[in-house]
Parts: sequence; C-alpha cells; structure tokens
Amino acid sequence: MNNLINKGVWVFIEQREGEVQKVSLELLGKGRQLADQLSTKLTALLMGENVAQAAQELIYRGADEVIVVEDSLLNVYITEPYTKVMSCLIEERRPEIILIGATAIGRDLAPRVSARVHTGLTADCTSLEIEDETQNLLMTRPAFGGNIMATIICPDFRPQMSTVRPGVMVELDIDTTRKGEIINIKPSLVKEDINVEILEIVKEKKQKVKIEEANVLISGGRGLGKIDGFEILNQLASELGGMVSGSRAVVDAGWIDRDYQVGQTGKTVRPNLYFACGISGAIQHVAGMEESELIIAINKNTEAPIFEVADVGIVGDVHKVIPALIEELKSL
Ligand code: FAD
Repeated sequence: MNNLINKGVWVFIEQREGEVQKVSLELLGKGRQLADQLSTKLTALLMGENVAQAAQELIYRGADEVIVVEDSLLNVYITEPYTKVMSCLIEERRPEIILIGATAIGRDLAPRVSARVHTGLTADCTSLEIEDETQNLLMTRPAFGGNIMATIICPDFRPQMSTVRPGVMVELDIDTTRKGEIINIKPSLVKEDINVEILEIVKEKKQKVKIEEANVLISGGRGLGKIDGFEILNQLASELGGMVSGSRAVVDAGWIDRDYQVGQTGKTVRPNLYFACGISGAIQHVAGMEESELIIAINKNTEAPIFEVADVGIVGDVHKVIPALIEELKSL
C-alpha cells in the first residue's frame, strides 16, 4: 500500500457477489455533496474478490476515485479482514469523513474500524450536513426512542465516521461523462487474519421485499380496523402500480409482515407518492416517510398529526374514501 495523503470523503461500498448495494449509491450521492462543500475528493472504497468490474459505475455515480482492494480472503464479508484492510487504509490516507450504510454489514464493520483507528462513530444517521463555521460534519440521528433528533459532532478526532440508514439519501443518476481514477491495491492479508471459517452460505429463499425502492406506497395503519382492510389497499396499489406497506401497529397486530414496516424501527422510504391510510402520524412513523415527494393522508380525525406532514389531507373513513378513489381511477 502506498502513502498518499488524501483528506477526502470516503464511502464504503457494500457489495454482494459483486453487486453494489443501493445504500452505497445513496451514500455516494450524499458524499458528492459533502466533498464539493469541503472542496475535496470523493473516494469509493470497494473491497472483495473479483469486484473491480463495479468500479467504473461508482465513478459514473459521483466518485472521483475508487480504491479497489481485491483478495480471495475478502471473498465474502468477514469482520476481521475487512476491519484490518479498512483500518490500514484509513491510517495511511487519513480521510476526513467516512460514510457506511447502516446495514447488517455496516453495523458490524463501522464500530470495529472506528475503535481500531481511535475515532468516534455516529450510528444510524438520517441527516448529514457540514457546519459552515467549523467545517465539522453535523451527524443527526433519532434518539430517546425517536422522540428527539440528536445532532452529534466529532470535533477532536478524524475521520468523522457515520453509518447512515438505507433509503434516506438520494443517489445520483448515472453520468457516463464523469471521469475518475481507479486505484488497485493488493492488501497484505494472511490466513491467520481470519479467526472464523465459513462452512456454508444459505441464501434467503424468499424474495426480499424492498418497499424502499417503490415509487408509490400505499401504507395502512390501525385505522383499517382489521387485516381485511388491506384488501382495498392492495386494489389501490394495483391501480397505481405501487406496493403496500404499513405502520408498526399493523405489523405488531400481524396484519402485514415486518418487511413492509415504515418508520424508525422499520424502513425509511422516499417514494414519489405515499398514501397514509388510517395512520395517526406518530413521530416514529413520520421519521420513516416524511421525505416522500407527495404525501396523501386519509384519516377520520381532523387532529391526527399525520396531517401536519401531508401535502394533501382527506378527512374521512378509509373504507369510503379508498373505494371511491379506486372507482375514480378505473374510470380514467
Ligand atoms: P394508531 O396510532 O392507533 O392510529 C390509527 C389512526 O387511524 C388514528 O389517527 C385514527 O384517527 C385513524 N382512524 C381510525 N379509524 C379510521 C377510519 N375508519 N378511517 C380513517 N382513519 C381512521 N410506528 C411505526 O409506524 N413505525 C415504526 O418504525 C415505529 N417505531 C417505533 C419505535 C419506538 C421506540 C416506539 C416507542 C414506537 C414506534 N412506533 C413505530 C409506534 C408508534 O409510536 C405508533 O404507535 C404507531 O405508528 C401507530 O400506528 P397507527 O398510526 O397505525 O395506529
């Protein structure tokens, strides 16, 4: 590894079998903005085996340079070798900011790396901004059960490290005119760096539901009354080409699977259109959907907090309003 100094913004690129995960593209979008504000470079850190083919797309998605670290010992994610490689690179190149997706892998990797390089970590962020005066990174995340948003800074240590929830930041469109540098690095890893042995990888059988990627979401809450209430939501979703999701209350009631939960302890979504049907608008729910382009709320209580974030509010019974909407859409 060479000793180039690069005080830039880094994004850890999470990949599965060479396929870059959406959260990493979202972080490149945010990283581009931060790097421009700091007049510095945006670096994508891509680790694995046979992953180099993904590097060019990372440049098209905003990176100025891609550090590709390939080794057979990085074939699948294992804590120790990934931590070792990343920590060594940070110590050599000293980036200012590091962004990692708050996924199962990111939540495992980030705290270990931050401890190894003796810096702080703000986990599970939903907003990142540069403070004008100090140029410190303002890292905001829900705290105290989502009842307040806490903004955390790391003034004395570098890098400033943050894990960021999937679905919160916006990825850049592919721009094939973008230019960047690809740096290939061979890490100094040995078998002894790994203390675990992967015996078998069992792939998930069911297709993972990705409400984070839907353009239209029809979300139902306890106001639907019972599980059958989802039938009209499914009909509305198929009219609009969308997907159905729900509040935690309906997930806890067993009306819909946990994969479809929107909110602080569910998924953060940002569709073009979000219907909140019979959802009160608790802060923990709103935290997961308030960035939606257009929010339409249907609730029979004029005082429901969901109306505070809704662009369009319909006061009425979901069992009357939604069938009327479906009829109207069918007649178009
Ligand atoms: P309710 O709050 O019961 O609201 C039902 C709404 O439906 C009411 O506003 C009512 O006026 C309306 N209504 C009733 N009947 C009708 C009708 N016929 N037509 C129209 N409107 C009607 N919640 C989440 O959603 N996601 C999370 O990730 C999440 N995480 C949490 C994490 C923590 C640590 C905690 C403490 C809570 C969390 N919650 C979460 C729970 C949250 O606080 C609320 O309890 C939950 O969002 C309420 O769900 P709801 O709006 O469906 O139900």
